[in-house]
Amino acid sequence: MKCPKCHSQNLRVIETRSSNDHLTTRRRRICENCQFRFSTQESVLLSLPKVRKKNGQKEVFSKSKILHGLQAACAKRPVNKEQLNQIVTRIVDWAEKSFSEEVSSCDIGLRVLSGLMEVDQVASVRFASVHQNFSNLDDFVSQLGNMEHE
Ligand SMILES: [Zn+2]
Repeated sequence: MKCPKCHSQNLRVIETRSSNDHLTTRRRRICENCQFRFSTQESVLLSLPKVRKKNGQKEVFSKSKILHGLQAACAKRPVNKEQLNQIVTRIVDWAEKSFSEEVSSCDIGLRVLSGLMEVDQVASVRFASVHQNFSNLDDFVSQLGNMEHE
């Protein structure tokens, strides 16, 4: 980094401040050459994997798509939005930490299902039947078993 005024690289950090969510850090710097002061900002670059669909196509990881799937499955069920948001957050965290390049839509479906099972059994069965990753419930249950063994 160079001083924006005199282009010297002789800089010193005089103050460091982190944002409330700890995703951004601002630093106040001073140029030792001309005494010019300026700020820089560092941000965490969140990188979500691509989603590989059953047909092999890849698409951008979409939080809203997961949320819509959850909402559809929970229509008229006693599940509140906060519970659904928590499931989405957990899936995003898991995808970020476990996969760098890509994750299969089937794996995401399983996570959605296990999240739904915790909040509403009827909604989880509904989700499983709408998303044809599973031909029947046994298939789904055995897949869930595999997942727990990981
Ligand atoms: Zn300078």
